[in-house]
Amino acid sequence: MELTKRSLLKLTAAAALFGGPAFAQSKGTIGIAMPTKSSARWISDGNSMVDQFTAAGYDTDLQYAEDDIPNQLAQIENMITKGVNVLVIAAIDGTTLSNALENAAAAGIKVIAYDRLIRESGNVDYYATFDNFKVGVQQANSLVAGLKERFPDVKPWNVELFGGSPDDNNAFFFYNGAMSVLQPMIDAGDIAVPSGQMGMDVVGTLRWDGAVAQSRMDNLLSANYTDAKLNGALSPYDGLSIGILSSLKGVGYGSGDLPMPIVTGQDCEVPSIKSIIAGEQYSSIFKDTRNLAGVTVKMVDAILSGGEPEINDTTTYDNGVKVVPSYLLESQPVDATNYEAILVGSGYYTADQLK
Ligand code: BGC
Repeated sequence: MELTKRSLLKLTAAAALFGGPAFAQSKGTIGIAMPTKSSARWISDGNSMVDQFTAAGYDTDLQYAEDDIPNQLAQIENMITKGVNVLVIAAIDGTTLSNALENAAAAGIKVIAYDRLIRESGNVDYYATFDNFKVGVQQANSLVAGLKERFPDVKPWNVELFGGSPDDNNAFFFYNGAMSVLQPMIDAGDIAVPSGQMGMDVVGTLRWDGAVAQSRMDNLLSANYTDAKLNGALSPYDGLSIGILSSLKGVGYGSGDLPMPIVTGQDCEVPSIKSIIAGEQYSSIFKDTRNLAGVTVKMVDAILSGGEPEINDTTTYDNGVKVVPSYLLESQPVDATNYEAILVGSGYYTADQLK
């Protein structure tokens, strides 16, 4: 008895010395498949998840696929073979994972779609994301606010539309959300789209590639704006906005008597916040990746301890096979008036990072 007590004491002392959790057994390994490092938001998502999973007692296997679909498939298959306990996937192409996910299901591995819905598979257990339709509404509302502010006397406002990657379910939600605001204004004659290019099949930007958006903007300008002036561009993502802005700057917008059109964005990536501060990009949408990671960690914890993850939406995200139970977070519009309070104030960036 005495001996047991003493060894217990020794163990406790050692645990205190080594920080306790050194003795805790890992609660399992979480496979995290992210699309690309070319956009800072996914780097933040990956880092936040590793931090928060580690703090919750899990090991992680974090992989980036550089927007290459076979690469992401191989990474996921490898995670399944290694026997991860749960898969967290932000898909590059939401429709190409069905076979891999069948193998996951057969191995008893639960799957969480992270930010982007995985389509055409019954083997997606939960979806953690933002209210993507609302993101689009916020982008359009910000575009309209900017048009009123910078071009109070213009009617109709000339606007061009950009969409995200057509293989990403989110792109349709962003576009449809934005059009729920813009279409009535187009119908009322307050907004014109001089190119006539509308609909995700024409305005989509494969792989969210900024260079593709830039050259599309170049073409739109040379074909439709020799006389007319552009007032705004709906851009669903900061990486596209930067491309669109360089095209606009290339033909003189933002200098002399040619005001910069209102250009929206999403993700609050550093180059775009700097551009907002410099008066070029008008706005972005803040999606706090720390919170998305937090929701995901809680989901995993619930799944692995035999409980039910908290969800707040059971109707919106039909992936073609089933409606995936989802947790939707709120996003925040950011512009020159509030970036400091929202981004620096919340500790997402330091003031120095934005200089
Ligand atoms: C995400 C956006 C991001 C885009 C491009 C979307 O699926 O929801 O936050 O801007 O992908 O990476």
